[in-house]
Amino acid sequence: MQPLRDDLKQQLANAIKARKTLEDAYESQFKILAQFVARLSLVCKGTDLELDNRLAKLRTELTKGTDLQKLLPFITDTSQSLQLFDSKQQREIKEIQQQMNQAGKLLQQQKGLPDQLRRELRLLLSKVAEPPSTVQAFLPHLTNLTNLYQTALHSKQQLDSSAQGDDVRYGHICRQISVELTNLLSELAFAEKSAPQIAVIRQSLLDTLSIEALLDACLQTITIIVASINEERLSAEHFLLKLNDALSSVQDAVSLSLKNTDQLHFKLDKLNQQIEQQIDQLGQSTKSATSLEQLKELVTQRLGNISDTLKTKEQLETQERQAMLTTLQGMELRLKELESEAQTFKTKLAEQNFRSLQDALTEIPNRAAFDERLALEVKRWQRHQKPLCIALADVDNFKRINDNYGHSAGDKTLKVIARALQKGLRETDFIARYGGEEFVILFPETALEELTAPLNKLREKIKSIVFTFKNQKVPITISFGASQLTAEDTSRQVFDRADEALYEAKKAGRDRVILKT
Ligand code: GH3
Ligand code: MG
Ligand code: MG
Repeated sequence: MQPLRDDLKQQLANAIKARKTLEDAYESQFKILAQFVARLSLVCKGTDLELDNRLAKLRTELTKGTDLQKLLPFITDTSQSLQLFDSKQQREIKEIQQQMNQAGKLLQQQKGLPDQLRRELRLLLSKVAEPPSTVQAFLPHLTNLTNLYQTALHSKQQLDSSAQGDDVRYGHICRQISVELTNLLSELAFAEKSAPQIAVIRQSLLDTLSIEALLDACLQTITIIVASINEERLSAEHFLLKLNDALSSVQDAVSLSLKNTDQLHFKLDKLNQQIEQQIDQLGQSTKSATSLEQLKELVTQRLGNISDTLKTKEQLETQERQAMLTTLQGMELRLKELESEAQTFKTKLAEQNFRSLQDALTEIPNRAAFDERLALEVKRWQRHQKPLCIALADVDNFKRINDNYGHSAGDKTLKVIARALQKGLRETDFIARYGGEEFVILFPETALEELTAPLNKLREKIKSIVFTFKNQKVPITISFGASQLTAEDTSRQVFDRADEALYEAKKAGRDRVILKT
């Protein structure tokens, strides 16, 4: 009897230990889930407000240790947010698609288009018809370009229908479109691999172009932008797919372990009942035994049964524990994959952002960056009421540099000038290339009368640079116009006053600074 009872004791101890291990495993599953959601929130932060909120809620629930059953709806909701977020972006892009389609179809209806243009147009339209992208960075530029393109088309239609020989007007329109497209191209800094194509378009715009050639340039630019969008879309979509996968694998893991727990409880309950019954029977048997020998036999048999049942119970728990560990490992693996995926995606987005705010030629901020900064400084001005000034700078007679020494000499000159201007400013000032050979500078916390000295210093600095072209020393000068923001102003108005001041500086003979209140 004694060894059997010890055996039974041991079995009970084992069963309790197995139960404890199982509970520990559940707790660790919770921890991993909480960690997963925390990391997921980090990955998605700022991508979408709704998604951020959902993940924050899920995180709170997990840290509270809410039971798994209650978490399922949260995870389902998060999955749905993710899908909603995706379709919201797609809707926005669809509008642009329609605009581009319209523009393209209009042009297709034109008679006498060159074959090459027709081919490219067909290609473009087929690209535009591809599934919508998920990235918005390029959209404003694309809209601008589409508008510009429509203007060009409209002018062409008008010119075609009006009497021939309106050369002055024709030339004027062509120049205007060319200037606008040049500005647009300097705003858009493209992915490295399209840089050579863009350079060719920019170069071609320096010559006088026909409207047909301008339309062609617009179309080429649109094609490049569409290609960039498609590329970015692919990486964004890929990431969202992975994210969805990861979420559903968590969901599956949770449902599975819920199901397993239920089954386990059911089986364990049954086993417990069985053990109770067996102990009961043991009691009954001892009462009905008529001899010591019979009693001994009965007890041995019953205790053997109980011991078997306990063994089964322990095996069952070990099995469940192992199944759960496998699920957990699977989840961890998914999480790791997702993290590296997110990293790649973020780097890509960051590069894109960086590129679109920097001017490709001079590597200083571009016009889009300036607009953003101006809005910010105006807000600061409204809050703190410290003076804010805008200065415009335009290189004098720059066309002559291009005409006499070639465009690449002109490009190099612009780089040198941009760097010199930037170096000559305080860290709080902000300079951007506004387009062509024009720069714009923001002077926060500076009153107009305080600008005379620093602007003249910049002017002298440029004048003192020795440019050598074809073994000739060529002095280059620059003119400035500046104005200060007043309480009645919009940012457009103060900008226009600075522009008027610049015009006056040119009229008065260039190489000077004019301030306008
Ligand atoms: P002004 O003193 O009145 O400013 O004369 P300007 O010749 O500088 O002015 P205009 O606006 O007539 O000509 C500007 C020229 O700048 C036209 C274009 O050839 C040149 N330009 C604009 N952007 C670039 C560029 O990115 N590279 C080069 N090489 N030239 C450019
Ligand atoms: Mg100019
Ligand atoms: Mg100029």
